[in-house]
Parts: sequence; C-alpha cells; structure tokens
Amino acid sequence: LAKQTGKDGFQVYSPGLGAAQEARARLEQDLRAALSDQHLRLVYQPLFDASGRMVSVEALARWAHPQRGAVSPAEFIPLAEASGLIVELGLHTLELLARDLEQWRQLGLAPVPVAFNLSSRQCRQPRQRQRLLDTLTRLGLQPEVLEFELTEGTLFEDLEAPDSMVTLLQQHGYTLSIDDFGTGYSSLSYLRRLRCRKLKIDRVFIHGLARSPDARVLVEAIVRVAHALEMQVVAEGVEARADWDCLNALHCDLYQGFGLSRPLEPSALATLLQAQAEGARAQIPPR
Ligand code: C2E
Ligand code: MG
Ligand code: MG
Ligand code: MG
Repeated sequence: LAKQTGKDGFQVYSPGLGAAQEARARLEQDLRAALSDQHLRLVYQPLFDASGRMVSVEALARWAHPQRGAVSPAEFIPLAEASGLIVELGLHTLELLARDLEQWRQLGLAPVPVAFNLSSRQCRQPRQRQRLLDTLTRLGLQPEVLEFELTEGTLFEDLEAPDSMVTLLQQHGYTLSIDDFGTGYSSLSYLRRLRCRKLKIDRVFIHGLARSPDARVLVEAIVRVAHALEMQVVAEGVEARADWDCLNALHCDLYQGFGLSRPLEPSALATLLQAQAEGARAQIPPR
C-alpha cells in the first residue's frame, strides 16, 4: 500500500511504518531542514564556583520547530545521533557559537569559556575528526574560549582509536570534561589515561543528595578520586539548597543547575557577564 498524503502534504497514514516511526521520520526530515534555516540556536548554562562566580558556560542546542514549537533536546539529540545528522548539527552549532562569541566581543565583554558537547559520531571516523578540527580553525575557536564535554561511553570508545579525538583535541590545547559521570562505563583505569580537566557528576546522583546517604557516599568517593587525579568536580543538576550544602561540604568545585541558573539566551548571558564584570555574584547557596 502506498503512503497516503493528507491535505497539508504530509503523510497521515502508512501501514508499513508504525505511527511512531512515521512521526520520527518526519521529525528527522524537519531537523535536516532546521540545519539550513534559523530554527536552531544555542543557549548557555553557567557553571559557578563556590563563591558564586561564573567560571564558564555550557552551550546547549535548542530547536524551535515551526509547527510544533520547542522540541526537547532529549528528543532531537538522540534522533540526530541515530540518523547521523548529529555530525552536521555539531558543525552547525559551532557556527552559531562563533556568531554569539562575536556578538559578546562587540559588546566589549570579556569572553567566558564555553563548553561544547561532542557526540561519539563526531569522533568515530578520521574524516569527521578532521572536519571538526578544520571547523575550529576556520572559525578561530581557540582553546582559551572553547572546551569539550564527552560522555563516558564516547571517551571509552574513542580511546581505542589511533589518533583518537581526545588525543587530537588535547594536542591542539583543548581541555575536556567527562559528562554525565556515573551513568556509563565507570572504569576507574581509564580516568587516569584520559587526563580530563573536569568530571561532571550526573544529576541522578545530585538530585536529593541531602536525603540519600548512599548517594552521599558515592559522591564523596567520586570527589576523592577526581581530586587525586587532579580533576575539578562539577555537580550537574543542582536545584535544592540542601543538595548544594551537601556538595559544598564534600568539596565539590563547580556547580551547575536550575537552582543557580537556567540555560540563558545569548542576550541574557551578556547581561550576566556585564553584571559580573561590575562585581556581581550569583546567589550562593541557592534559595
Ligand atoms: P548534558 O550535556 O548533560 O546537559 C545538561 C542537561 O541538563 C541540559 O539539558 C540542561 O538543561 C539540564 N539541566 C541543567 N541543570 C538542570 C537541573 O537543575 N535540573 C534538571 N532537571 N536538568 C538540568 P538539555 O539542554 O535538555 O540537553 C540534554 C542533553 O542533550 C545534554 O545533556 C547533551 O547530552 C545533549 N545536547 C544538548 N545540546 C547538544 C549539542 O549541541 N550537541 C550535542 N552533541 N549534544 C547536545
Ligand atoms: Mg554536557
Ligand atoms: Mg551532562
Ligand atoms: Mg546529562
């Protein structure tokens, strides 16, 4: 049976594909289109030290779908990963980043380092690794303003490659963070080999920390290992004051989460950078 086409021109029914698969295929098409229109943008979530000073930000992709409105990254990033579109998306968002950096520069703001999420797909093939490096060079994205976040799974896989992405980026002077630590392959032996600057503890360990003795023991152990290997510890998903207090007592170095700041539009980050230059600090601990 052929696919039927609704009055708006999109497929409304297909016995071959399930409805969910059909919707997925359509969303993938739309995402492909979004790479060449204005519907993708970056927002920036600050990381703060214990004094409330913003030390860096993390760039997070946002997609404003023309019909559906905001699509969650939890939906479109996995879709982009599965379809391979993530490679183009990753290069496209670097362009967006370069544009935002230029705007902040024109406002006379001192740049804050930006952390960028790298997908394993961008690391796998020598050709993709080279494309990424070429893009960094072309856009003038230097290690002073850019760092990378990779998940444990990506790092683990990448380590096996000759001329791994990690090695290439480090040779170029970029620093790396281990993202979502504790949710993937947590082999302690590779922590030492990786030489990452930061270790970001996933928010599943952070949320409700103050009420969970088990989580507390784990976080305490992670902090100790990270510090012994000269890594900074970042807590992701800091929302509650009680969790912040707990993290602070455990000597966590940096804090990121809705309790301190939501991801910000470029203009809102500019305002925060300006305020910080004038001595303002975030409300620490969060209320
Ligand atoms: P991630 O790299 O671990 O990013 C942190 C995620 O946690 C973000 O979700 C952020 O909005 C969310 N978050 C931060 N603080 C809190 C909090 O206090 N509570 C809760 N509940 N959530 C918090 P987001 O923006 O939805 O992104 C989800 C994931 O999608 C990211 O996880 C990252 O893995 C991926 N992602 C986002 N943008 C990009 C991108 O440009 N490229 C790639 N490759 N992946 C991206
Ligand atoms: Mg991240
Ligand atoms: Mg993370
Ligand atoms: Mg995460």
